[in-house]
Amino acid sequence: MRELILEALRESVKRYPDIVPYLEGKAAWLAISDKLALWQAKAVTQLRNGEPALCEFEREMIPEPVAEMVKNLLAYAESEDQIKQGFIDLEVIITQPTPSVKGIIDRDELEKRLMRVIDRSLRDELKKLLEYLGDPPDLGNVPYDYWQNGWKKLRRVVEPILVDTYLSYAEAAMAKVGIGVEWTLVNRRASNWARDHGNTILKQLFDHTYEGVSETVPQYFEQGWTSKELAHELERYYSPVRAEMIAVTETTRAAVEGERAYVAELEASTGRRMVPIWLTANDDKVCPICNPKPPDKPRHEMPITDGVFPPAHPRCRCGVAWEFETTLNPEQAVLWQSR
Ligand SMILES: [Zn+2]
Ligand SMILES: [Zn+2]
Repeated sequence: MRELILEALRESVKRYPDIVPYLEGKAAWLAISDKLALWQAKAVTQLRNGEPALCEFEREMIPEPVAEMVKNLLAYAESEDQIKQGFIDLEVIITQPTPSVKGIIDRDELEKRLMRVIDRSLRDELKKLLEYLGDPPDLGNVPYDYWQNGWKKLRRVVEPILVDTYLSYAEAAMAKVGIGVEWTLVNRRASNWARDHGNTILKQLFDHTYEGVSETVPQYFEQGWTSKELAHELERYYSPVRAEMIAVTETTRAAVEGERAYVAELEASTGRRMVPIWLTANDDKVCPICNPKPPDKPRHEMPITDGVFPPAHPRCRCGVAWEFETTLNPEQAVLWQSR
């Protein structure tokens, strides 16, 4: 039965080669796999004869984007194994399932959820602080416990959202690559990361706020402020702008870390290597840190070779695309090999 369908598919492709780009996933692969196998065999023969693997091939039945990928992988193939692996990668890419609903992530929504809980917690913390300070304000009235424990509530609401973002992106990466991994391990990485990182964020938040408050309160007396003016000055450390900045940055971090967790499991279980490609966000295309102008090397669409992943700075919305080593374009391959 399968052979019959395949035959029919090949017949229609032969008669109407234009339909190939409209075929999806497995069907597309079945329609062109025999042609690709011939191309692969030709490349191997060339290599055995001491010629470059990159060879022309009559390819009216191979869609242009696929032909491009084949040429890229052949251009850098130095052994039969590399050619073989390249074609296996190609099959994975072509037959990967169309991303499920779970694969499509509403990043804005994740960011907003995080921003809302941080904003609300900061407001609560400011209110508590003002109550402790009293009128006239006295820093000595603020119990040690406020600085030590107040933030734990924030951590409790932030952590689940970070985990959610992390796992959503890990799942989307898996849907895209199309190779499954042991999901309990990814889950474990998610909770460990969120706990450690939640602590780091809160420590930073706390240090910065503690410093700011300690410097601001004495000015009430030095500047002759009213209580209202003091409250207004303190708001800076508990403001929605700050909540938003933290939300944007930490959403980026959780997303990238989630993808890295999936990739780490994939690499550990298959021995395959995936290459991270920096993708600057639309609002970050002109950012001098994420995408510097020449003579510095722009990061956009380039392999990450220095171990620095987004976020590159507060409010960075950059992301990462993951490629097999064999599917890099020539420019990316050169940079990746020279790392
Ligand atoms: Zn940037
Ligand atoms: Zn960025």
